[in-house]
This record gives sequence, C-alpha cells and structure tokens, in this order.
Amino acid sequence: MRIDFVTIFPRMFDPLLAEGVIARGVKAGLLDIHVWDLRDFATDKHRSTDDEAYGGGPGMVMLAEPVLRAVDKIRDEGGGMRDEKEVIPHIVMMSPQGRRFDQKLAAELGETEWLVFLCGRYEGFDELIREILQPYEISIGDFVVSGGELPAMLVADAIGRLVEGVVGNSDSVVADSFYEGLLDYPHYTRPEEIRGRRVPEILLSGHHENIRKWRKEQALRQTLKKRPDLLKTAQLDDEARAVLKGIENEKP
Ligand code: SAH
Repeated sequence: MRIDFVTIFPRMFDPLLAEGVIARGVKAGLLDIHVWDLRDFATDKHRSTDDEAYGGGPGMVMLAEPVLRAVDKIRDEGGGMRDEKEVIPHIVMMSPQGRRFDQKLAAELGETEWLVFLCGRYEGFDELIREILQPYEISIGDFVVSGGELPAMLVADAIGRLVEGVVGNSDSVVADSFYEGLLDYPHYTRPEEIRGRRVPEILLSGHHENIRKWRKEQALRQTLKKRPDLLKTAQLDDEARAVLKGIENEKP
C-alpha cells in the first residue's frame, strides 16, 4: 500500500517513519510512504502556502494552487498502469467536517492501494480545493486540533496496521477492540500476583477452550459496561447472544 502526506511540516512525520509498527512496515516493503513539503509547490518566491480570506475575518486560508500542483505531481509520479489496471490515488482531506473515522472506515480504506492525505493548517483549505479534487473528508472526532498532520498519522496508522504482515501476528489485529464491533477482552502478563491482586485463575489453567469462552464473555462484559452503544451494531453469533442474555439476567 502506498501512502502520501502533503504538509507544510514534513518533519512532523519523522517519528512515524523512525519507530514502531508503521516504520517496520515501511522497512519490510509492505508500506510505501512519501512525505511532500507543500512549500515546494508554491508559486511565489516566498514559497507561500496560505493567504488572507476573501470577505475578511481572522485566520489564514490554505492556497489552492500549491495543493493542486502537489496532487498532480504525486499522481504523475506514482500513477500509471499496473497489472493492466490504472492505479489512481484516493485523495483524503483531513477536516473536522469530514466523516468520523472509525474501525469500519479504516477497514474500507485498507482495501485501497493508494491514499494521499492533505494536511490542513490555519483556518483550513480553500473551499475550491474540495470542489476540484472531491476528496474523501475524514475527521478524527468532534474537536479541532491545529493541523491535519496528527490526524493524518493517526488514520494512516490505523489503516497501515491492517495491511497483511505489518503487524507481526495478524491474529492480534483480529482480536483488537472494534474489529468485530466489540471491545477487546482484558490482558494480563507476569507476575501472577501483584500488590495482592491475582490474574484470573482460568488464564493459568492451560485449558484453551475455557480460556476462549472466558475471553469472549469478558469482551461482551467490557462492551456492555463501557460502550453499550456498540452492541446495537456488533455482529453477534449465537454463542455471544447466549452469553449476553446470561449477563443481562444476572442479579445486580
Ligand atoms: N476552521 C476549520 C478548522 C481548521 S483546523 C473548521 O472549523 O472546520 C486546521 C486543520 O487541522 C484542518 O484543515 C484539518 O486539516 C486539521 N484538523 C483539525 N481538526 C481536525 C479533526 N477533528 N479531524 C481531522 N482534521 C482536523
């Protein structure tokens, strides 16, 4: 999978590419990540990427021309025919007005081959960029941060770790929270006891089937307790439904 970031702060991406799961995915050749300095696509000698808003008011607006030129360049460089089909990038604009990002959207975007993230600053992008590129608009939540770089890295991390092989053990991705619409079960490691609190005995029993059942029940309990809203849309099998009924019938 190829991922491009367009930003006025390219060095913000250094840590993402230096350490951790995504960096490993790049080194293993599973992820092909490119960071573009928007200033390289400016048209004036000051390398401007923003200007005052038409109509007045506070705050600067990201100029359309550099963004459009950057996207053209990325398309030209990475596009073309591969295995008899044309490779074209999906353009993603980071914006608090976009579709709220979640695991389902991560899975959808994980199916694509090539994503280009546009990272905004200031008051955001000139609206004409949206009209011309018709990007996917993605928000990381109902709050405003000062730039699209952290949101884009967050989204790219969630998508990148779904690419086969990027996370060493793909079973662990499947068991993560939200993968099947539920929260993850609780995890424990050594020692067996600490400050008077013990690891649940069943996990030390070595009985795989009982452990599997216990974990499934715990995932349902955590979800019911912390995020009952998720149960409305979770894909529950017969076993899960029976367990849930049992939990709901318990005396308080
Ligand atoms: N005036 C804009 C906010 C601009 S914040 C508005 O109210 O809609 C500057 C940039 O940070 C945005 O262009 C976007 O790229 C990024 N950003 C801020 N909050 C975000 C969020 N919740 N999700 C995704 N990107 C966000």
